[in-house]
Amino acid sequence: MPGYERWSDLERKELMDVLDSGILMRYGFDGARKGHWKSKALESAICETFGCAHAQLTSSGTAALTTALNALGVGYGDEVIMPSFTFVASFEAVLSVGAVPVLADIDDTLTLDPALVRRKITPRTKAIMPVHMCGSMADMDALRSICREHKLWLLEDACQSIGGTYKGKKLGTIGDAGTFSFDFVKTMTCGEGGVVMTNHQDVYIKSDGYTDHGHDHLGVDRGADLHPFIGYNFRISELHSAVGLAQIRRLPEFLETQEKNHRALKAYLAEIPGISFRRVPDPAGDSHSFISWFLPTAEQAQRAVEALREARLLAGNFYWYNNNWHYIRKWEHLKKALTLSGLSPEIKSRLEAEANGDFGASDAIMSRCVSTSISLLWTEEQIRERGMRMRDVIAQSI
Ligand SMILES: *Cc1c(COP(=O)(O)O)cnc(C)c1O
Repeated sequence: MPGYERWSDLERKELMDVLDSGILMRYGFDGARKGHWKSKALESAICETFGCAHAQLTSSGTAALTTALNALGVGYGDEVIMPSFTFVASFEAVLSVGAVPVLADIDDTLTLDPALVRRKITPRTKAIMPVHMCGSMADMDALRSICREHKLWLLEDACQSIGGTYKGKKLGTIGDAGTFSFDFVKTMTCGEGGVVMTNHQDVYIKSDGYTDHGHDHLGVDRGADLHPFIGYNFRISELHSAVGLAQIRRLPEFLETQEKNHRALKAYLAEIPGISFRRVPDPAGDSHSFISWFLPTAEQAQRAVEALREARLLAGNFYWYNNNWHYIRKWEHLKKALTLSGLSPEIKSRLEAEANGDFGASDAIMSRCVSTSISLLWTEEQIRERGMRMRDVIAQSI
């Protein structure tokens, strides 16, 4: 997954432009910046690379989700349907706008099960937020038709699937809005950063203002801006955008390597008796950042993980079922609604009810699942060795 594996002179050069001009902020200082507008250039490159009308950079992927929810008008009194398997950022963003995260089970795509999403819809539902986890996508046709039918927003969290596609369209550009994270471990990185992508001009204009204190960016200088609404500061810096600008130009190379390494390693894993792989709604669109695989039973998966640990092969393999960051089972803080500043009693009790629901359908999938992350640095020899060892260790353990 990580672009950080390929740090180079290209990133250094873009950064030096910013350091030489000394203008580290993305807005203003027109004369002093010597023509360098790294954030604007990265936004244009994002629109071109991913095929969306508008892109608004943010300080993180979490900030991008929060901004998108605000721009779509999601807030108090609303519910957002999100998956039980994601990153904690998903519910953080929903709670930060005053809405209630309604968790729905995932299926063997490791993303929202559209049939179970339907059951979670109430008159308060305002948006569905699929998360394209581990490099591959949700069933977007099914989710889009649910959204049309019920007049809901479709907000894609594509933070982990930069470069993936669904039926020819880039993930993150299919819904009403979509987000990427450019944090340090994502497919391309800014160090920290994120983006809201949309084809709706009003969602873009609101995102642009929201990320910069609600400034309308129409004033003759910064102090002259008006404020159509109250915003926040989720700005990215020119330093971060400079790194991203170099990385986006190298993205085709990252994705190509990712695919090649994915294919080579998967061929070894496929030889393990009883193994199966995650269902990919559009197989041509996988971004190949992970290979996600299942064993027939939870006990076998646990034995395989233990055997990988003993063989010192566990690094880069993720058994999400026991992971504290990514799966509902271990989100004790969410289940207890532990916040520093306190939630309204109404939201607290709704949240507790949702987070403590029955996720048996997700458990049945996640307890059998392991995801293997793909490195860009592996040589063919290393993949062969890793593939053969993983295959043999897992096969013997089950
Ligand atoms: C990384 C990630 C985020 C948040 O991104 P940050 O830039 O780290 O805030 C959100 N959702 C998913 C699925 C992620 O993997």
